[in-house]
Amino acid sequence: DFSYLKNMPPVSGDEPSTIDEKNADTTKSLSSKFNGDFLNEKGFKILPQNVDFKYINPKNKQGDKEEILKQHSESYEKILKTEVREPKDFDIESIRPPAEGVAYEHANATIVALVRNHEFGPIGNTIKKLEKQFNSKFKYPYTLINDVPFTDKFKERIRRFTDAPIEFVTIPSNLWDKPESIDIVKEAKAMSVMTANNVAYAAMGSYHNMCRFYSGNLFNLPEMQKYKFYWRIEPHVEFYSNINYDVFKYLEGTKKVYGFTISLYDIAETIQTLWPETLKFLNMGDNYKYINPNGSFQWLLNNLQNPQNNNKTGGFSTCHFWTNFEIVDMDFLRSEAYTKWFKHLDSTGNFYYERWGDAPVRSMGLGLFADKNQVHWFRDIGYFHDPYFHCPSTPFTAGCEIGKFSKWPHLEDQNCMMSWIDYSIDNLDAIY
Ligand code: GDP
Ligand code: MN
Repeated sequence: DFSYLKNMPPVSGDEPSTIDEKNADTTKSLSSKFNGDFLNEKGFKILPQNVDFKYINPKNKQGDKEEILKQHSESYEKILKTEVREPKDFDIESIRPPAEGVAYEHANATIVALVRNHEFGPIGNTIKKLEKQFNSKFKYPYTLINDVPFTDKFKERIRRFTDAPIEFVTIPSNLWDKPESIDIVKEAKAMSVMTANNVAYAAMGSYHNMCRFYSGNLFNLPEMQKYKFYWRIEPHVEFYSNINYDVFKYLEGTKKVYGFTISLYDIAETIQTLWPETLKFLNMGDNYKYINPNGSFQWLLNNLQNPQNNNKTGGFSTCHFWTNFEIVDMDFLRSEAYTKWFKHLDSTGNFYYERWGDAPVRSMGLGLFADKNQVHWFRDIGYFHDPYFHCPSTPFTAGCEIGKFSKWPHLEDQNCMMSWIDYSIDNLDAIY
């Protein structure tokens, strides 16, 4: 079991939150309360043990977990089956691909993947699919990254899949390896506990390195310094939609800092102390100032669909953006807020003593430090990473089943897109 976690020092602040009943029933009044009562400089009052979820779930949905899931699945399907085109909140005509032979002024961006030498086939296939749907029109450069040098064979094979420039990067050991401060006896114990709890990859050291690298170090690579945006890709994924506008310029033009396609719940056992440690960080010194007053607080703490997760994580819903697809403004990740917070998280060693994923870390950072309107759901980009789909109804999408979320029916309850739509999108009709 995880009883060793119970020895965690309590998070500071000890009064339960109180807010006026009469103000509690609308999202708008709730978010102003978040800025006042819930998050104030004198004491951070969102305490895992004290959270009153009546105020965290302001849509006042009724019913137990199963009933909520049914409502969410129906709403999700209805939204996904509504035909949309490209985003409406920007002049898409101004960011179309260049005509054949015409020089193109790129955004400052690269397409990145962390991969191993033996993955040349699968990552090659991903590149081939992305070229077909997007990049053959724009020719953004690729940055392929590995913890060991890429072989000549890998480089030669990959070049067959694209004529865009490719940079091959070896990660310096200080940005990849497990820090020397990690207590390997404690780590081994934690790994065997998680393995006994069926946590995937729990005992795989390289997976922990990978999660830590993507959480805090990718954008600090020397080769990434020249870029502002990246689009992350992975082996074994699908892109179902033809993208006929520059997604980087879309983010830049709308001043958004993050784009995703799929959001889902995490394995709570992997991140039991991520939220408590984050609260601890926010309560240190004047770190409260980093919180964006228009952050996605209800989304972070909502407990309607999978309350058992909140119970294991000290209040965090575990709902997160699936980072195997992400389009990111690295200025956000390189900001003082994200950097200091990551340093605090890293200092706990819990990328190793637990199995914190880069996806919940990234998402929690966005939920706290970014304006919710700066996070963009790429509703128009159909995508698959086993076992989840994002399959919208657009004239540019083919090859997937519209509205289907998972390959397996028993995983339907892992979809938390409705939580993002309910609490963090002010007006969906204004975007698509
Ligand atoms: P999952 O999606 O959580 O099952 O994790 P993946 O196995 O897909 O890993 C995420 C990404 O990191 C993929 O692009 C992998 O190729 C890459 N990756 C994972 N572990 C390593 C590693 O030890 N070295 C390198 N170079 N890449 C890795
Ligand atoms: Mn993967």
